Amino acid sequence: MLSLEASSQLNEVKSRSAGQPAASTRSGRNILHLDLDSFFVSVERLLDSRLQGKPVLIGGVTDRGVVAACSYEARAFGIHSAMPMRMARELCPEAIVIRGNSATYSKYSDIVTEIMQEEVPVLEKTSIDEFYADLTGMDRFFGCAKMADELRQKIIKETGLPNSFGLSINKTVSKVATGEAKPNNRLEIRSGEEKPFLAPLSVRKIPMVGEKTYQTLRNLGIQKIKTVQEMPQEMMQQVLGQHGSMIWKKANGVDNSPVIAYSERKSISTERTFDRDTTDVVKLKGIMLAMAENLAFQLRRGKKLTGCVTVKIRFSDFQTQTLQARIPYTSADHILIEKVMELFNKVYNRRLLVRLIGVRYSHLVGGGYQINLFEDSEEYINLYQAMDRIRERFGDRAVLRASGINARTIGRSNPFNGKRAPLLLANRRT
Ligand SMILES: [Mg+2]
Repeated sequence: MLSLEASSQLNEVKSRSAGQPAASTRSGRNILHLDLDSFFVSVERLLDSRLQGKPVLIGGVTDRGVVAACSYEARAFGIHSAMPMRMARELCPEAIVIRGNSATYSKYSDIVTEIMQEEVPVLEKTSIDEFYADLTGMDRFFGCAKMADELRQKIIKETGLPNSFGLSINKTVSKVATGEAKPNNRLEIRSGEEKPFLAPLSVRKIPMVGEKTYQTLRNLGIQKIKTVQEMPQEMMQQVLGQHGSMIWKKANGVDNSPVIAYSERKSISTERTFDRDTTDVVKLKGIMLAMAENLAFQLRRGKKLTGCVTVKIRFSDFQTQTLQARIPYTSADHILIEKVMELFNKVYNRRLLVRLIGVRYSHLVGGGYQINLFEDSEEYINLYQAMDRIRERFGDRAVLRASGINARTIGRSNPFNGKRAPLLLANRRT
């Protein structure tokens, strides 16, 4: 059992709930949100300790690049992610600029995932550096706060990665608590303390409030969460529709959404069965490529990244072969297409009639373009976004790679040399 005495012995404890009942007497759920602190920077510091305590920028290393991540020291200069690298360098000339490596970050993310999966009953991985766990019921054995503290320390001990957590009755309050605890700390919000905890914070801190909604709220004179708490729910709904209603609930510390177990099988896939079995390699490759590209678009549309690619071929004798490869988390066309084609070339080793081909992306986690920022130039990201906008408007097949017209010779020498990316996105090795 966790007693108040025990929790007060823990180091670095920020607790705003003194005098509240001990964990064992609380009712309802116990939801943990754990986030690795400035994750990319922390990994780079593990690899090079000279980066400790210094302003560090990660992203495209040329002037055309974008900041994908930065250290707290860099943030003090007003630098934030998604800022053009040139502007960041002007703000902080002494900053150390590093081209990120998504393979390395993916590896460390997987190590943390494994540690957490061993320890908690239900784990949800929402992005490369962010997790939810449902610890409900664990308090009967040793107390959720104690368990979360031990988990946090275990991650630090085994990986060297600083991390922070929030613990409360639901996901929203825990996520906000993590943000308040950072860096390298923890914060527990006892049951019943949700509203007073949220009240003094900016409405910007409610997880679903983006820049646009924030401006709308500011224009209405709403700055603190307390103001939303004091408004009737209907008023928020009138101003912002269904979205407003959700914001009102979150502002009041209400969130019943469950922790959804992270499954390695969580995937998206597509298959094509042929009317007539075929050995037409050019056709097969063209279809593989289109499937790889379409699924990559689906990933980006869902703000997801994949960590595993599978290619499947069924031959006319109904023998099915699949080949799978773990990859660094990505949603970038050119990386995924290259991997799919590589697997296809390995698995299509028999000149047999093919009945079905398929592609699957699994080990999905949340994450927008950020992870691709150091793999690609700003132009590439802009190009993807432009193509995706066309697809959103005119349908999935509106933009397709010129796979059928043998126009695959345009390469991409160095994405960071500042040259414009080719307009025809060509797969490099097929
Ligand atoms: Mg983080």
